[in-house]
Amino acid sequence: MPRAATGAIAAALLRGKVTLMAASAPRVARAFPGLAAATGFPPSATSSPRLRLLRRLRTGASARSFCGVAGASAGSAATGFSAEEEGPRLQSELIFLGTGTSEGIPRVSCLTHPTETCHVCTKAAELGNPNRRRNTSILLRHATPSGTANILVDAGKFFYHSALQWFPAFGLRTVDAVIITHSHADAIGGLDCLRDWTNNVQPSVPIYVAERDYEVMKMTHYYLIDTSVVIPGAAVSALQFNVIKEEPFMVHNLEVIPLPVWHGQGYRSLGFRFADICYISDVSDIPEETYKLLENCELLIMDALRPDRSSSTHFGLPRALEEVRKIKPKKTLFTGRNSLTTRMMHLMDHEKVNDDLARLMETEGLDIQLSYDGLRIPVRL
Ligand SMILES: [Zn+2]
Ligand SMILES: [Zn+2]
Repeated sequence: MPRAATGAIAAALLRGKVTLMAASAPRVARAFPGLAAATGFPPSATSSPRLRLLRRLRTGASARSFCGVAGASAGSAATGFSAEEEGPRLQSELIFLGTGTSEGIPRVSCLTHPTETCHVCTKAAELGNPNRRRNTSILLRHATPSGTANILVDAGKFFYHSALQWFPAFGLRTVDAVIITHSHADAIGGLDCLRDWTNNVQPSVPIYVAERDYEVMKMTHYYLIDTSVVIPGAAVSALQFNVIKEEPFMVHNLEVIPLPVWHGQGYRSLGFRFADICYISDVSDIPEETYKLLENCELLIMDALRPDRSSSTHFGLPRALEEVRKIKPKKTLFTGRNSLTTRMMHLMDHEKVNDDLARLMETEGLDIQLSYDGLRIPVRL
């Protein structure tokens, strides 16, 4: 049954590749998903009335399942509020700064192709379209009575572009910590951009990184680690490096549990657990001992790069669905350094895939959707 269902989804996804409809939703609705931004269901111009009803029903249920306050912050993406407008913030939030592949969606090569039209990239070129995806990254806005800390997971090559869009829109100012999953360019390529923060907002940014990735960064970011090589007067990001082990650590009073996974043969990457939220952005296999750390997960955010198959370094959708059935989270959001969930490819149209995934709720009771850049969810940390 699971294998057959997986195949059906993959087939449906592939059909979606060639039967995409032109986007017809009002541009403003695409740019500012409003309530959908807080619940994980962007507006759809193509879904059936039945699926729209299902989404409405699920919106209430799923929002309550992992929100500290039912309906909190709903519509906030539409208003683009600032912290000043809303006063002291006690609701923690999870914000998807990026949900795409290393090269981003749209691909420039698709938009410049002399003879072929890539429908997903064409849609993604429209500002605010959910198919537009930058390097995978999330920001946890950890709110406590004593203050709010903005904890970033990864700052990849497109961090500047993500921050440019979402920091002003969501009233974000500081970067209070960066936790690194691994040392590929789409996870650490934007650390250089933090110079704007450490020059103009705050004195420094603490970075939490595994020893093996710190060793890589001594080569790739040598001038950020050994600042004595910087020409006097030149400004670079002022980073404080904290080497972490594969055991729990604290960041601004938030316990972070590393989730060691394989990201290609012999190459380790880290997912992270924050309360009952598990985030695994780059994974090709999960070691048996890590499953224990995934028990009783309420929200799983997981890599799903392609609609049809896994690659040597990332889960494809069928494998990701197998893992969801095994881990049994209450809700799952896929992300893809390609274009599906956290890493999603241009092979997948956001709304089409989401409609197909929504059917898994009817057939198996699985609550799974794709994430998208700018998705913002109230969470309990
Ligand atoms: Zn494309
Ligand atoms: Zn990677």
